[in-house]
Amino acid sequence: MAVAEQYQGVRASLDAVCASCGRDPGEVALVAVSKTTDVAHVAEAMQAGATDFGENRPDELMLKATSLPAARWHFIGNVQSRRIPDIVAHAQLVHSVFKAEHLPKIDRAAAAAGKVQDILIEVNVSGEQAKGGAAPGELGDLLAQAGELEHVRVRGLMTMAPQGDLDVARECFSALRQLRDQANAALPSGMPALTELSMGMSEDWEAAVEEGATLVRIGRAVFQEGFE
Ligand SMILES: *Cc1c(COP(=O)(O)O)cnc(C)c1O
Repeated sequence: MAVAEQYQGVRASLDAVCASCGRDPGEVALVAVSKTTDVAHVAEAMQAGATDFGENRPDELMLKATSLPAARWHFIGNVQSRRIPDIVAHAQLVHSVFKAEHLPKIDRAAAAAGKVQDILIEVNVSGEQAKGGAAPGELGDLLAQAGELEHVRVRGLMTMAPQGDLDVARECFSALRQLRDQANAALPSGMPALTELSMGMSEDWEAAVEEGATLVRIGRAVFQEGFE
C-alpha cells in the first residue's frame, strides 16, 4: 500500500506544481526510479498508475523490464560500452549518454535490435568534478555526431543538480533549458528539435518543473517508505 499511496501523492503534487506554473501536467512524465526496489513494488506502483520506471544498472533493467514489459523503461545510469546491447534491448529512453565513442555503438546495437534508440545527452551543467556528463561546450559536437546516425535519435538533454541547495539546483535546471534552446537554434540540418529535459529528483523536482522539466526522475519519494 505504501508505494501506491506515495506514488499517487507525488503524482498529485506534480500535477499541482504544473497547475501553479501554468504547465500542462501531460507534458511532464514521472519516471519512478526503481533502482532500490524490487519487481513486486514496481508492480504495485503500476497498479497505482505509474507507467515509466528508471534503472541505473543494466542487470536490474533487464530483470525488471523482462518481468514487466508493459511499463516504459528508462536507463539513467553509467553507460559502459560492453553493456550497450543490453541497455538498447530494454530501454525506451537512455538518459545518460555523453561520450562520443558510445554513439556509434548505440547505433549498431539499435540497428541489430531493429529499432531507433531514443537518447538524451547528459550535460554536467554544475561543473562538479564527481558528476558525469558532457561539458556544455561539447554538446554541439555530440549532436553533430549523433545526427549522422540512422538508429540514434536525440530527444533532449539530462542533468543532475548538486544536492543540498535548491537555488543552485534551480540555476542548473535553468541553464540546461537555455542550453537546449541554444542547441535548437543551431541544430545540424535535418535533426528534429530537442524537446525533452530530464531534470529533477526527489528533493528538487519542483524547481525542475518550474524551469521546464519534461521528465522528472523520482526514486525515494515514491519507493522509500515514509519519505518526506
Ligand atoms: C537515483 C537516481 C535518481 C533518483 O534519486 P532520488 O533522490 O531517489 O529521487 C534520479 N536520477 C538518477 C540519475 C539517479 O541515479
